[in-house]
Amino acid sequence: MISYRTPEEIEKMRQAGRIVAGAIQEVWKALRPGVSTQELDLLIRDFVLDRGGKLLFYRYRGFPANSCLSINHEVVHGIPKRRRKLAEGDILSVDVGVKIRGYCGDAAWTFPVGEVSDEARRLLAVGHECLQRGIAASRVGQRISDVSRAIQSCAESSGYHVVKKFVGHGIGSQLHEDPQVPNYLEEKPLRHDPALREGMVLAIEPMVNIGTDDVEILDDGWTVVTKDRSLSAHFEHTVAVRGEGPDILTLLEGGAEVG
Ligand code: MG
Repeated sequence: MISYRTPEEIEKMRQAGRIVAGAIQEVWKALRPGVSTQELDLLIRDFVLDRGGKLLFYRYRGFPANSCLSINHEVVHGIPKRRRKLAEGDILSVDVGVKIRGYCGDAAWTFPVGEVSDEARRLLAVGHECLQRGIAASRVGQRISDVSRAIQSCAESSGYHVVKKFVGHGIGSQLHEDPQVPNYLEEKPLRHDPALREGMVLAIEPMVNIGTDDVEILDDGWTVVTKDRSLSAHFEHTVAVRGEGPDILTLLEGGAEVG
């Protein structure tokens, strides 16, 4: 069942979204070779708890940390660890979900660690562009498949691949709500292809891989990696569909993007 949020509810989600963006920005400010993913996870935890938020990924189905931090060929759901240290040239995906006063926000960003290869830099640019295209398609009168198509064509026209096993989602009082927001078009037309209506709130989250769309899950039961171990980027915003156009809820206080 899809929920349609009132302007008041959307403002509550924006509060959650600002905390999400602020937490991701803390990681960006602290990012350097040698820092461990656990240190970054604890920065996220402290930032969110100091503002009265609840960390939605903590113990979600048993997830053992506060955020998902995924390095290089890790696509999503990387587990922060004390001994996992970043190196110059890595890329790091930071995914944070927060609930405050009953409403949720969810966003992700992939950052370069120091100087990265041209290949990595291009992947980050395309991944970000895919998110922007998906957001631009999130307009009243469009359908979910229009968002999917915009993202997929952006990735594939750049020679990259979108992950199909994981998708974006509705979000509101729960982290994961209807509808699903795939980053690709189904081979058969979608049986259920909802029209975008005022008040729908979507977590749009392209996962873009250089070499293959195929992924596998590591023995830790969480970390999703590209099958060919090629690099992967993940960009996500929580976006409200509104009469005047898409409204990004996971921006920093003042309206800037993270990074
Ligand atoms: Mg999400």
